[in-house]
Amino acid sequence: MSTEHNLVFLGAPGAGKGTVSKQVLAKYPLAHISTGDLLRAEVAAGTELGKKADALMKSGQLVPDEIVAGMVRSRLTRDDCKAGFILDGFPRTVAQAELLNDALKALGRKLQMVVYFKVPDEMLIQRLTARLNCRGCDAIYNKLFMPPKVEGICDKCGSPLYQRSDDSLETAKSRLQVFYKQTLPLIDFYEKSGQLLTIESTSSSEILTRLIEALEK
Ligand code: ADP
Ligand code: ZN
Repeated sequence: MSTEHNLVFLGAPGAGKGTVSKQVLAKYPLAHISTGDLLRAEVAAGTELGKKADALMKSGQLVPDEIVAGMVRSRLTRDDCKAGFILDGFPRTVAQAELLNDALKALGRKLQMVVYFKVPDEMLIQRLTARLNCRGCDAIYNKLFMPPKVEGICDKCGSPLYQRSDDSLETAKSRLQVFYKQTLPLIDFYEKSGQLLTIESTSSSEILTRLIEALEK
């Protein structure tokens, strides 16, 4: 049996994948691979790839499969992935899942588990439109559910907080539609391969407990 924790976190935007990833990383030495973060870094650096991705991201549409899969493929070869990884926000289409399978096969590795974060729609919209991100570190807050101690300032590093441009109500709604249309078919895909763990909860600590239970089994 392999002891590698090779995980995929699947769920709508705002389902808590990023928050739970950080909690898992405090316990396991895994690489955190968020395609959203990788793409935002490309946009910030003004690369060719970033220029292609920028408009799509702003409107809540998906970046082409081959582009994101290529980023993930090269990220997976880095040393910090040896003990395992969390793929956060990838794959998001069945085509991406197939590209991921090919890439893992080529590396002689396998997914251990695909975790589906199931959260009601109303909650997702509330969370996305109230989400705040730190300019200085990777902390995430929420005006309603997890406010910083001082308004607009990160508790951890003192930098200003901002709202992602794609967290506006309009874009949040289209991101949810994109999720249902393009990503939800993956539930079936992974259920068939027997790798799916569905966790239906709005509490990140409960999600974490259930996930760790499953990992240690
Ligand atoms: P969230 O999970 O909150 O929607 P992410 O940071 O994961 O946000 O993604 C932000 C945007 O980046 C997406 O709306 C999409 O445009 C792009 N993106 C991220 N991951 C992928 C992916 N696997 N495939 C295509 N586009 C992606
Ligand atoms: Zn910070």
